Amino acid sequence: MTKYDYDLFVIGAGSGGVRAARLAAQLGKKVAVAEEDRPGGTCVLRGCVPKKFMVYASEVPEQIDYARGFGWDAQAGSFDWNAFRDRNQAELTRLSQIYSANLVKAGVEIVNAHAAFADAHTLVLTTKSGGQRRVTADTILIAVGGWPFLPQHCPGVAEHGLTSNDMFLLPELPKTMAIVGGGYIAVEFAGIMHGLGVDVTLLYRGQKILRGFDDEVRDHLSNEMTLRGVKIHTECDPVKLHLDEKGRTVVTLNTGGTATFDKVLYASGRKPKTEGLNLDALGIKPDVHGAVPVDPFSRTEVENVYAIGDVTNRANLTPVAIREAIAFVETVYKANPTAYDHENIPTAVFSQPQIGTVGLTEAEAVEKGIEFDVYTTRFKPMKTSFVGGNSRIFMKLIVERKSDVVIGVHMVGGDAGEIIQLAGIAVKAKLTKAQWDATCAVHPTAAEELVTLKDKRA
Ligand code: NDP
Repeated sequence: MTKYDYDLFVIGAGSGGVRAARLAAQLGKKVAVAEEDRPGGTCVLRGCVPKKFMVYASEVPEQIDYARGFGWDAQAGSFDWNAFRDRNQAELTRLSQIYSANLVKAGVEIVNAHAAFADAHTLVLTTKSGGQRRVTADTILIAVGGWPFLPQHCPGVAEHGLTSNDMFLLPELPKTMAIVGGGYIAVEFAGIMHGLGVDVTLLYRGQKILRGFDDEVRDHLSNEMTLRGVKIHTECDPVKLHLDEKGRTVVTLNTGGTATFDKVLYASGRKPKTEGLNLDALGIKPDVHGAVPVDPFSRTEVENVYAIGDVTNRANLTPVAIREAIAFVETVYKANPTAYDHENIPTAVFSQPQIGTVGLTEAEAVEKGIEFDVYTTRFKPMKTSFVGGNSRIFMKLIVERKSDVVIGVHMVGGDAGEIIQLAGIAVKAKLTKAQWDATCAVHPTAAEELVTLKDKRA
């Protein structure tokens, strides 16, 4: 035992913080974690998990259409938002309780309070009722995550714009909704709300949604979303929001004119949640994105203070935060300095249809000066051909010419999230196109196209 109250004090009981706290406690360290909300963090309480349940709920009408195409006498009936929302929240409560139970089982003390630095080893814990106490720790891990960001340039946003946090608790489903933004959250909620029967308009300031993704993926998803009925307006950005006499949100657009919606969701990015941590007390200056700067071992410029997860703005994904937590514990408590390798992280966007992607986009390969070949395919899945629809799957492999290694895999279509997990192994292992092709196809599947792509793009 050190001279401090704790060996490790973790700030934030989200995916990263919980994993680090549990692993350190299992090694016999005295550990506490401070959390203002319930344990679970963004992923469990207001992100990945409730979002995925909403995706499932919203896919039902399409499945019913398919059912009819396959001869079932199926009707969608009506959707009870209140019943779904309450069941979703109940499931989150169950999962949060499991997080708490696992922490307690590992011997971690959970402190329901806000933590702020007094100095490098001292935190001030403030409870909701205002009670304060000081604790000291040998090592402190910042794992506070991020929070939705609302643009400042648009009056009325703070008062009338919803964030993704609000989407899980809507008192009722709106009939019409504008979604501002063209990133992960915007396209995911566009699909969800459309599937639930809401008339959705996506307003994106750029020319093409999903900046940073492969251009062909961006185009394909945009076409597929439009085909399904989502209205996408690019180069379009609200400049003012106000309510009309019926309580609907009137959006004044940069393109001139106004449009009125029941609700407006702002999916305009997230910011590291460093406010209130009093990082000044340590001399830590957040970077231009508000993130806590760290070295490859997640150590800040203060020797005993580390940071992992979205607050460091490296790759803002739950599994990455968990891997960073594991690397932190290896480094600090197992004398095994481990820098998590952020290369080739597979990721899925739960848009409708889904995106799965790993490795370089074509633009990134060009930028790196790599010589490469491209293999693409667009095809109607057999299920869609059977019932008669126009939706197509898109797949793309980017292969380095000199080594034959597959350096990028991109897919838009059903189950892309599941498929990309396995493609991610092959890309991480730097397998060659010849090795992909030597793998026997699984027939009849969509995924088999990935091992049967023959024609290079000219
Ligand atoms: P993103 O960074 O993905 O997208 C933000 C969007 O908002 C961009 O289209 C951006 O436009 C636009 N935007 C930014 N600032 C403004 C502004 N001032 N006015 C108007 N539009 C603006 O953020 P998200 O909030 O969608 O997601 C945050 C992160 O959460 C993601 O990066 C991802 O790491 C994670 N996430 C992961 C999911 C998954 O794994 N499936 C699901 C959801 C979130 P521009 O492109 O022009 O900058």
